[in-house]
Amino acid sequence: MKTVIFAVTTEGAGAAGRIRDLLTEENFCKGSDIKVYIKHKSDTLVKDRCVILFDREEMAGYVRREFPRADALIFICAAGIAVRMIAPCLEHKSKDPAVLVVDDGMNYCIPILSGHLGGANELARTISDRLKTIPVITTASDVAGLTAVDMFARSHDLVITDFERAKVLTAALLEGEKLMVVNEVSDTIDLMPADIPDGYILADSGYTSGMRDDKKISGTADNGRTAINSPGKDNEAGYGKKLRITYKKRGDHDEGWNREDMITLDLVPACLNVGIGCRRGTDRETIRAAIDRCFGLHNLHKSAIKRICSIDLKADEEGLLAYCNEEGLPCTFYSADRLKRVEGDFAGSDFVSGVTGVDNVCERSAVAEGGRLIVRKEAYDGVTVAVAVRTRMQCQKNRPRGLYVVGIGPGDEKGMTIRAREVLDKCRIIAGYKTYIDLVKPMLPGDKEYIETGMRAEEERCRMALEAAASGRGDVCMICSGDAGIYGMAGLIYELSCEYPEVNIEVVPGVTAALSGSALLGAAAGHDLAIISLSDLLTPQALIEKRLRAAAEGDYVIALYNPASKKRTGYLKKACDIVSEVRNPDTVCGYVRNIGRKGETVRVTTLKELGNVEADMFTTVFIGNSMTKNIGGHMVTPRGYRL
Ligand code: SAH
Repeated sequence: MKTVIFAVTTEGAGAAGRIRDLLTEENFCKGSDIKVYIKHKSDTLVKDRCVILFDREEMAGYVRREFPRADALIFICAAGIAVRMIAPCLEHKSKDPAVLVVDDGMNYCIPILSGHLGGANELARTISDRLKTIPVITTASDVAGLTAVDMFARSHDLVITDFERAKVLTAALLEGEKLMVVNEVSDTIDLMPADIPDGYILADSGYTSGMRDDKKISGTADNGRTAINSPGKDNEAGYGKKLRITYKKRGDHDEGWNREDMITLDLVPACLNVGIGCRRGTDRETIRAAIDRCFGLHNLHKSAIKRICSIDLKADEEGLLAYCNEEGLPCTFYSADRLKRVEGDFAGSDFVSGVTGVDNVCERSAVAEGGRLIVRKEAYDGVTVAVAVRTRMQCQKNRPRGLYVVGIGPGDEKGMTIRAREVLDKCRIIAGYKTYIDLVKPMLPGDKEYIETGMRAEEERCRMALEAAASGRGDVCMICSGDAGIYGMAGLIYELSCEYPEVNIEVVPGVTAALSGSALLGAAAGHDLAIISLSDLLTPQALIEKRLRAAAEGDYVIALYNPASKKRTGYLKKACDIVSEVRNPDTVCGYVRNIGRKGETVRVTTLKELGNVEADMFTTVFIGNSMTKNIGGHMVTPRGYRL
């Protein structure tokens, strides 16, 4: 697409540079197809390949010259300047290029000419998507409310394989012709009659599944949109302009490819997962060649690739990462264990098993999220490739799959952040440790689904939450007490999340026990604070002791979490002994139990007494620093003001 950008200010020149980079990155244009005209003095902002303008008159001359040749003109200036400049050049909407105006500050992007046919709206949306301008689309109600082909493709997340063809088809639509939509991937994309705009006709699945020979076309009437009741030649002739939703390239032998009245445009959904296995050190080009050959051989559109998948051993495989990076493709790596659990019939190999711990990498990783293998393991120059098509469950368009990891604070509703409360309300599924579920249940309406697990089943709990989110049943809220990150589930969710790439994660912070406890005690954490968990379930005892010593020596206020559990007793005493090695036995200490819950207890004491306190799993313990005071029964660590 030939694009010309004009900018008349220094700021505008910077914007021109960004738009040029975007258009080349998005493959809207080849670098050589973009020209940039900027005002002199601002040339440092767009370093190369631009023409310097001297004055308005000269600019008008360039506009006149470029207008008939370009596909798009982008003016970075006041709309008035652009309108005056293009006014003498206007011919006909079937010929005029797309014209857009972007303001200097890159706040707005306004298509002022050829919004549909010339693709100005589409271009404005692309620019706005990436550069965060606001697209000011003014054509919505014109052209009889018809949806241009590019808009149709866009609304279903389909890639247009040929913009020229898209333009011709939109032009036909505007002339009153009907466009037939042939959905060849109906197990991936669910097109309902309501998804089909006026002027488009959805061919039924009989047409798509190999019934071309008898040219059977049928459909049901729905506002007159999809009524094609009589099969036969007339229909075929009447609906020669087609949009094929497919990941398969058509061969040139396909009917009507070269006839003007029979134009077919392929619209491609990103629905293919490509599983890759390779030897250590395989370079980027070898990987590219393998994928290209595989896709060439099987007539697959490369724009249908949704993601590349492999085993986590390859997470640092430079060639593979470089390929994905260059193609802008996400890459998902699965553990051998996860791959082993994928059900199906795969081409197993003892060699692969010996190296990776699982008998097949490419096929299993391609279908790890579900879907159906369409190309089984093939080897090209040492790279194994398998391709799976994602089925409906995994890629219904734009369905949000949110997993919120929410810190609910100490326990009562008032200790929650507004955001946490909001998320609890909006999520349909609530997951968490039973005790916390019991805390929130009374605050919520009765129609929620709960996923409860016991104490030790953290990994299982997180997996269940991720699976629930991935299933698309609704947004999921995984609740943690206090803060979601501090000895909470947020980290584990992220660690497991690479296996569930379609799930969007948001962590909602909460008031951790060190803060709510400190406040109940007075101002226990008034200065530098070390939070240490005494639980040795996941942390070696020696490391806990080392940190205790370091915190004691550093004269930190120390907040001790998990000071005891039903099975672990004596830990608090041990911790007090360690701290007492360097701290005064009269150091002011405190502890709180069941903050914000039934049985809330707050006590201030000293280090020498603290070891004898009976802590339980709902207790948080505070050891003051050398400055901490007992002020009228409150534990206060001064900030250091001289009073
Ligand atoms: N994510 C939580 C901590 C979980 S670890 C948070 O940020 O607060 C569990 C430990 O946190 C408990 O053993 C206890 O030390 C502390 N804790 C959590 N909730 C508490 C409460 N309501 N009252 C007192 N201590 C609490």
